[in-house]
Amino acid sequence: MHCPFCGANDTKVIDSRLVAEGEQVRRRRECLASGCGERFTTFETAELVLPRLIKTDGSRQPFDEEKLRAGMQRALEKRPVSVERLEAALVHIKHKLRATGEREVKSLVVGELVMGELQKLDEVAYIRFASVYRRFQDLNEFREEIDRLAREPVKE
Ligand SMILES: [Zn+2]
Repeated sequence: MHCPFCGANDTKVIDSRLVAEGEQVRRRRECLASGCGERFTTFETAELVLPRLIKTDGSRQPFDEEKLRAGMQRALEKRPVSVERLEAALVHIKHKLRATGEREVKSLVVGELVMGELQKLDEVAYIRFASVYRRFQDLNEFREEIDRLAREPVKE
């Protein structure tokens, strides 16, 4: 990292923190060149791009975080789940998508990830989302899901 003041490449990181939901690293650096010693800030973004989504009709769409957040917020409406927990769930989902290492994933994969996160956050929200997402063409399937949840011990 070159110092923007004198051009020396001998700089030291004096502080480092994650910003933008952990997707950027903000670093405070100090130039070590004698007679300079200027401090400056850099923002470094991980270049790992989220995979594109393959819809059921075969068309491709870029990953849309806003759309995903809106869908989850709708499911969580009036439920006792904080914004922080929702944001953490979104970070988990994006992390898992990046971890696939794929350039394209089926949109179904995202839906399953969302359901997994919602199930941990709030079961009512999970059912709301699942009922819309899967559209439960088969009503028995929906009922089975509710029965299964009713049998499961309540999670904290
Ligand atoms: Zn310098």
